[in-house]
Amino acid sequence: MSARFASVTARAHGKINPYLEVGDLMEDGYHDLVTVFQSLAVAETVTLTVLSDGSEYTVDITGPYADEDIPRDASNLALAAVLRLSEATGVHIPVAVTIDKHVPVAGGMGGGSADAAAALLAYSHLIGGVDEDLLAEVASALGADVPFALHGGTMLGTGHGDDLTPVLTRGTYHWVLATSTGMLSTPAVYRKLDELRAARSEGFDPAVDGTPEVHGTSEAPRASAAEPADAAPVLAALAHGDPAALAEAVHNDMTDAAVALLPDVAHVMGTGIRAGALRALVSGSGPTVGFLVADDRHALDIAVLLSASRGVRHVVRTHGPASGAEILAARPWE
Ligand code: ATP
Repeated sequence: MSARFASVTARAHGKINPYLEVGDLMEDGYHDLVTVFQSLAVAETVTLTVLSDGSEYTVDITGPYADEDIPRDASNLALAAVLRLSEATGVHIPVAVTIDKHVPVAGGMGGGSADAAAALLAYSHLIGGVDEDLLAEVASALGADVPFALHGGTMLGTGHGDDLTPVLTRGTYHWVLATSTGMLSTPAVYRKLDELRAARSEGFDPAVDGTPEVHGTSEAPRASAAEPADAAPVLAALAHGDPAALAEAVHNDMTDAAVALLPDVAHVMGTGIRAGALRALVSGSGPTVGFLVADDRHALDIAVLLSASRGVRHVVRTHGPASGAEILAARPWE
């Protein structure tokens, strides 16, 4: 089968999790999650161009984060998506993958997952369409955040986070995201969370007795088993289109663990709050911190202050919810 187009360009968006509840460790080694995803205007654009010089594939990255540590081989999530879908459909078309990267790398904003989702959609378009169930299956196999990047909007995710249900949402929410000069490995944050919970269940409360406190962030530690998290207030705030209520309700079970491993996260949270953000929220397993802000003007003031703050690498101003992955262009053969 030959390609229908000479090249196809697709876009998929970054995300934030206004709610992240980490449950028990499941038999497959993953934690049971309840999370709310919101897609953000900041987006990745992936172009697949059919190669006719005999090479299998190439990967090229452009945009503000092109110089970051991103693989250019088959472990690149966009290329991995193309290869998986080509295997699943049996349609092999060699392509040059170009990623225009606007979502910070390793920032818990799902940039790699957005690349995979955009690449899946682009390859599907290139070969004349793929059955929706097959596309969903390949998306899940690529990563827990990939199905959401395909759908976009606002969704409740359960299981590994990829069992998705749409959430009724009104209004627009303005976010400022501050990525960190430090690094946090996601498995290490999960291990730390398990450790903190084990200490709590033995009567030692690290929030009181040991973990650095998140000063002035209004992010109350709520990870203890005695006080379970609840997604209902976040869902209600989103349904009402009320940023102030959402600010009250956002929650991330990973906060204490991220702060325990990288205390600068607490410093950044405090800086944004003092600058007037409605609320600070660790993004996923961190170390990026998201700030919910009242409006765009407010976002600019806070972004300027955060840019000069210790521990902050990049600052992104954006808003949500945004759409799911979509085709932007398809260039016909000459
Ligand atoms: P998530 O929120 O989905 O957990 P993230 O936003 O924290 O992910 P990504 O930017 O998606 O992190 O990248 C995580 C790692 O994946 C990077 O450190 C990089 O080495 C690797 N990676 C593979 N492909 C890509 C890609 N296309 N873009 C970015 N990183 C990629």
